[in-house]
Amino acid sequence: MKITKITVFHKDLPLSQPYFLSGGRLRFDVLDATFVKIETDEGITGWGEGTPWGHTYVPAHGPGIRAGIETLAPALMGLDPRELEMIEYAMDKQLPGHLYAKSAIDLACWDIKGQASNMSLTQMLGGDRGGGVRIMSSVSSGTPDYMLNIIKDYRAMGYVGHSVKVGGDVEKDIERIRFLEENRLPGERILYDVNRAWSRREAVIVMNAVSDLGVSFEQPCETLDDIARIRPLTQSPISVDETLVTLQDMTRIVHEGIAEIAGIKINRVGGLTKARRLRDMALAHGLQIYVMATGGSVMADTEASALALSIPEEMRLGGWACQDMLTVDIAPGKGMRSQDGYHYALSEAGIGFAPEESLLGNAVAVYEA
Ligand code: MG
Repeated sequence: MKITKITVFHKDLPLSQPYFLSGGRLRFDVLDATFVKIETDEGITGWGEGTPWGHTYVPAHGPGIRAGIETLAPALMGLDPRELEMIEYAMDKQLPGHLYAKSAIDLACWDIKGQASNMSLTQMLGGDRGGGVRIMSSVSSGTPDYMLNIIKDYRAMGYVGHSVKVGGDVEKDIERIRFLEENRLPGERILYDVNRAWSRREAVIVMNAVSDLGVSFEQPCETLDDIARIRPLTQSPISVDETLVTLQDMTRIVHEGIAEIAGIKINRVGGLTKARRLRDMALAHGLQIYVMATGGSVMADTEASALALSIPEEMRLGGWACQDMLTVDIAPGKGMRSQDGYHYALSEAGIGFAPEESLLGNAVAVYEA
């Protein structure tokens, strides 16, 4: 089987309301999504998506994905999309780094391989470990009452997990965390996500001030160096996501004991082919795992939850349904949808569905062998 054609679509995915990170420092209104259709000489067509969470969040850029694909496409023509590591090697050779630019291609190849072998993504990744993926809401920064009201809206949708964005003023963060923990329902899971906003000093102050609560923090500081230094000075469990990009990052995290939780974001790490190695290394070292899209439609969510389902239930902390924050749906009624706050495996081969092409607008690029 050979890749014969790659078609690229650009679609803006507006958020239903403005979204604030890092204590309000960063604002997001729309996500720049790239959808890729890969066709083969055997008539099987695969789809992938690459959607960064804006361009101010981490080094990833919507237009950069499309520019990257322009560079990658000639190196992919004629390759067998089922040979995932050969595709990965060809992409890494043609364009070193730029992992976020590669994940849509990677997913489309997984989709083709799944269709060719009549296996779902979750089956190809090792199988469904059961229990469903607990979907975490994403709660924008604001006053304690504002944040609790967002949580209540998600509860009404069945959510039992929340990723709560903190990382502003130290005193306000302590107040937010204490208030939300007082109002947390039994069995509800809250992850406090700092999105790199604290200095080392601020992280130590806040995390120690609420250490009696037993809550976990995600990405408290900017770099792995920062987190490595505060780790022995604090007691609360730490998740690393934004500075978990490569297998080398994961090696360092487990070797130096920097975190207890790995936050694997598929688009950031370059797709499922690389993400499954991060999963394996985290499991080998006893780290629990969140698996999420970096952002995007039901397609990105389904990809992430397919990997999450392959993680043993006791090590799987949760996933995300970014689709619930968008005003547009590129595949109405299809893919993984929240059922009482959980995603469950699909039985269809590959990713299990294709976007409705008419909803993506005109192709912005076509590459042919
Ligand atoms: Mg995070």
